[in-house]
Amino acid sequence: MSVFSKTFKSGIVASMLLGTSAFAMDFITIGTGGVTGVYYPTGGAICRMMNQHKKDTGIKCTVESTGGSVYNIKTIKAGELDFGIAQSDVVYQAAHGEGKFKDAPYKDLRVVMSIHPELLTLAVRKDSGIKKFQDLKGKHINIGNPGSGNEATVKLLLKTDPDVSLKDIKADGLKSAECPNALKDKKIDGYFYMVGHPTANFKDAANSTDIDLISLDNSKGAQKLVEEKPYYAWGVIPAGMYKGVDHDTKTFGVKAVLVTSSKASEKAVYNMVKSILDNFDAFKKLHPAYKNLTKEDLLKGFDHKMMHPGAVKAFKEAGVLK
Ligand code: GLU
Repeated sequence: MSVFSKTFKSGIVASMLLGTSAFAMDFITIGTGGVTGVYYPTGGAICRMMNQHKKDTGIKCTVESTGGSVYNIKTIKAGELDFGIAQSDVVYQAAHGEGKFKDAPYKDLRVVMSIHPELLTLAVRKDSGIKKFQDLKGKHINIGNPGSGNEATVKLLLKTDPDVSLKDIKADGLKSAECPNALKDKKIDGYFYMVGHPTANFKDAANSTDIDLISLDNSKGAQKLVEEKPYYAWGVIPAGMYKGVDHDTKTFGVKAVLVTSSKASEKAVYNMVKSILDNFDAFKKLHPAYKNLTKEDLLKGFDHKMMHPGAVKAFKEAGVLK
């Protein structure tokens, strides 16, 4: 049974118990990531836009903190989550039966829209001796919790790179929100996080420890991935974004994409997209990682054949999709 029908029923029960009107709310949930990342506030921002119209639409949106991209897609596939945010590389791999989804392609995966760009960020303790990617050998590095897109991308990078492989480092699988403290307590020398910027996570780290961010453009593995894969692109974390990091950091990244299943109702998907397109300036103010976002950007970073019909309808109506 899908969560749609399950939550719909509980909505009816709740309104009957409260003796409120016969109008039942349809509840939808967006799976996100760690609470100090950008997915979690992004889920909150989307729900906020949507819930402004909940009396008219009869849909109430809620957010869940989760393990990240891989978890979100697998849980949507299992019918236990309605929507989720995921990295564009993981979305591609899920649709094509690659990487963490090599057992079977997930044919019913649908895209609602893409959101902010994410960059694979390597933060280290300033006293760790790590000045460049190749210095990771022998170091204690967090690669991301199982279920995160972060872990999937870092493992792919270390598999592709000829100089540093997974067995060259002491790899940890802490959750992203645990990393700033682990870094401060010297339990790890550094950590990878595929995330939008700025993010509370690196602010926490930079405000409690002397940190540095390491450029990944000299990793042969990163160069190969950007050259060969359509969903990876170079980007820059500007100097001064985090305390103590006064140089630009060049690295590669993806887009954060909002996904669902082909079984999701057209009404819910349509209203979700419409509420954002109609109030785009208000939406953009909800997180600094959306600073340069345009409506056209919401259609980048994924195969349009994967778009949910409710999203196609809303984008066409707004004149953003031709
Ligand atoms: N890209 C990360 C992941 O899927 C999550 C980033 C975030 O929560 O903002 O693991």
